[in-house]
Amino acid sequence: MNNIRLIYICLILLFVVCVQPTFAVEAKGRYVTLQYNDKRVLREFNNKLLIGRKLTSIIRKKNLESVEDEVVAKVDVVVEKTQVVLDMFPDKLQLTVVLLPDEDDVTATYREKYGKHQENIAYYSLSEKTIYISVDDTNLRVLAHEIGHAVTDQYFKVRPPYKIHELMAQFAEKHITD
Ligand SMILES: [Zn+2]
Repeated sequence: MNNIRLIYICLILLFVVCVQPTFAVEAKGRYVTLQYNDKRVLREFNNKLLIGRKLTSIIRKKNLESVEDEVVAKVDVVVEKTQVVLDMFPDKLQLTVVLLPDEDDVTATYREKYGKHQENIAYYSLSEKTIYISVDDTNLRVLAHEIGHAVTDQYFKVRPPYKIHELMAQFAEKHITD
């Protein structure tokens, strides 16, 4: 009797563990909270995000013990550089970056939140202050574009028209490596 009960409990626990979605891992930097579900996705993002010699030399000085530390440091330094490029330094700038495996995941997330189909390799959610990015399509310019949206969003007290927003993001994308 007791054994059967134990087996039931084990089965229920197994079911709960298997069915529950894996919770996102969170890592925090100065500006950025990074979220991801899978170490492989994190590693791929790290490999795709080549930040150039100058920015790399900045993060080299930091004490980075894991891939996660390195990714957070890289994204933080891109946020810093984007602010310099735009010459806009919002108070208490904070944003979340969610790493998703590919474009389909970004598109699905967008559809889930907004009920609209729009193919995206990345987007910045104004209401959540969050960048959703396809790791498959990640590069410095794509990330800088979305960070450009975040910086613009958090700099102005009154939100500028969408076209201005987009221009700022494109400017950040274009000049990030200069
Ligand atoms: Zn944009």
